[in-house]
Amino acid sequence: MSKQSMREEAERLVREAMEKRTLAIKQGNTRIDAVCGKCGAPNRLSAERGATRVKFACKECGHKQETL
Ligand SMILES: [Zn+2]
Repeated sequence: MSKQSMREEAERLVREAMEKRTLAIKQGNTRIDAVCGKCGAPNRLSAERGATRVKFACKECGHKQETL
């Protein structure tokens, strides 16, 4: 396999992976990175598609809050 075709193959794989990820986001929940307002810990949340405010409890301190 030539370097050119190897590069094209790698680009194709990256493109396919990105398309799959986009599809997954469209179909399922979105991920929101929220920072706890009390202790500042990062919390990764999954939310309904289109949801902007998500209630969650901080995984570090348990503080209940909503994303902004
Ligand atoms: Zn916290």
